[in-house]
Amino acid sequence: VDTLIRNGTVLTNDASDTVLNADILIQGRKIAHIAPYGSLRHSSLTRVIDAKGAAVIPGFVQCHVHLCQTLMRGHADDLPLLAWLRERIWPLEAAHNDASLAASANLGLLEMMRAGTTTILDMGTVFGHDVILQSCFDSGIRAFSGKAMMDEGQGVPKRLRESTKASLAESDRLATHWNQKDDGRIRYAYAPRFVLSCTEKLFRSLADRLTSAADVMVHSHAAEHPDEQKYVRSLLGADDIDVITQWGVCGPRAVFAHGVQLTPAQMRRASELGTRFVHCPSANLKLGSGIAQVEKMLQAGMRIGLGADGAPCNNTMDPWVEMRLAALLSKVAAGTTSLAARRAFRLATLDGAHLLGIEALTGSLEVGKDADLAVVDLEGEHVQPAEDVFSKLVYSCRSTDVRDVFVRGEHVVRDRTHLTIDRERTIAAAKKASREQRTRAKL
Ligand SMILES: [Zn+2]
Repeated sequence: VDTLIRNGTVLTNDASDTVLNADILIQGRKIAHIAPYGSLRHSSLTRVIDAKGAAVIPGFVQCHVHLCQTLMRGHADDLPLLAWLRERIWPLEAAHNDASLAASANLGLLEMMRAGTTTILDMGTVFGHDVILQSCFDSGIRAFSGKAMMDEGQGVPKRLRESTKASLAESDRLATHWNQKDDGRIRYAYAPRFVLSCTEKLFRSLADRLTSAADVMVHSHAAEHPDEQKYVRSLLGADDIDVITQWGVCGPRAVFAHGVQLTPAQMRRASELGTRFVHCPSANLKLGSGIAQVEKMLQAGMRIGLGADGAPCNNTMDPWVEMRLAALLSKVAAGTTSLAARRAFRLATLDGAHLLGIEALTGSLEVGKDADLAVVDLEGEHVQPAEDVFSKLVYSCRSTDVRDVFVRGEHVVRDRTHLTIDRERTIAAAKKASREQRTRAKL
């Protein structure tokens, strides 16, 4: 069935940031036409969505999340990064089973998709990752995801420890089974958790995979917290990003969350190599890591995107919160004209698509691209009487303003209801699974 989204304020995100009062016709998975309001003919079979008083926007691209951690929301508050990992996150991840992984993923997907997220880059835990990928597959989201790799490290529970060989073998198995599923909607991303949990051998093996095939992606964490940076320097004699780059994991298909501690020289290097970084403002504040220098990264020519990180360090997975916070924090870091609304909106959408190498498919509303989009109500009292649509979206709108969401032409959220994930059942399953998980972890 074709879909006509009629009479919305369409933010195309094209090269000239065109905004127009228009109708959008979706045929199959593609945007078939964008034309001034009322000018498109359609058949009686076409499903029509009235977008009067609403914006039609490209879906959000969240470039760093952990679906396996959604159950830990509110169970790991107010701790420094390494203690947060060792005392809460790792013991809880080690206590996952298939039921808790599915409950965690479904809750996270429900929250993100209802908020207008259409693409994610996700890092799992060490085991059971088929469950997470299956949830992504079933939900209809566009996802890059991979199991966490951990072949060394202090304070790692036994169940999260694996040999280098086993870690690579399981990741390769998952990649073979899942990469490019559903005609490329699901992609595998190798996920060495961070330098403190992975050997040189592991990183170098991933560097070999990066050079051996064009669609391999590696997703990790780097330059996050100053205490971690000190600890890494004492162990390895250099910063994590320099060490990992030297081991060969760098370039356009290497994506690192955070980058809060990057020096100007490291930013220039990342820009030259094309290495990607993901700004996670809420997580950086909650774990006390600092404020990433987004303006300097952009001026250095780096490709960056936005992400919510995991629920236990945020505690939402809401792209609106991250977009607003990115814009606000950049003013503290670089002055009030930095990351204006229009630029922040692009960071949360098209820049993420570029970061993931899928800008030809998504990130803007243009004829021929996939229909990854959201319809957002602009009539709320917290939005009026602003007139500039970028101002409304970045500074005033909330996730609850999202009415409809499409991924690749599939209607996944209709009138605020997720069509593939049952809300009540998912929340009940999450509560039960979280209690049982904490019991198993003795937390
Ligand atoms: Zn993370």
